[in-house]
Amino acid sequence: MAFDYDDQNIFARILRGEIPNDTVAENDHALAFRDITPQAPSHVLVIPKGKYISFEDFSANASADEITAFMRLCAEVIATEGLGQANGGNGFRAITNAGSDGVQEVPHFHLHIMGGRIMGPMLS
Ligand code: 5GP
Repeated sequence: MAFDYDDQNIFARILRGEIPNDTVAENDHALAFRDITPQAPSHVLVIPKGKYISFEDFSANASADEITAFMRLCAEVIATEGLGQANGGNGFRAITNAGSDGVQEVPHFHLHIMGGRIMGPMLS
């Protein structure tokens, strides 16, 4: 399957600096910023800087450097947001939505990292 990336999606525009964002952390291959409609006291989106539509696309096609940088940026967010159990935090939820059944709104791969409250069961 080909992944047809839409250069006009909102996160592509954020990466190009066309739309402001509240950056939490950044490295060569990934950007972390606060969700505009937070679902928890801490709700950060981590995105690759490369053009990947979904987790499926990123995990299959990103380079080892891109994947490592993405995961390390997630670790940095978890630590700096005070969520990590290694640093006395209470934990967090990390999820990604993909495609229509996953109800993915923005077609640029992103991981939601949410914490600061008990997240509750995932029922729907
Ligand atoms: P999805 O449903 O695709 O997994 O989640 C997309 C997320 O992007 C939503 O939680 C939504 O609040 C967030 N979002 C949509 N537009 C913007 C925006 O312009 N800026 C930021 N920071 N977040 C956005």
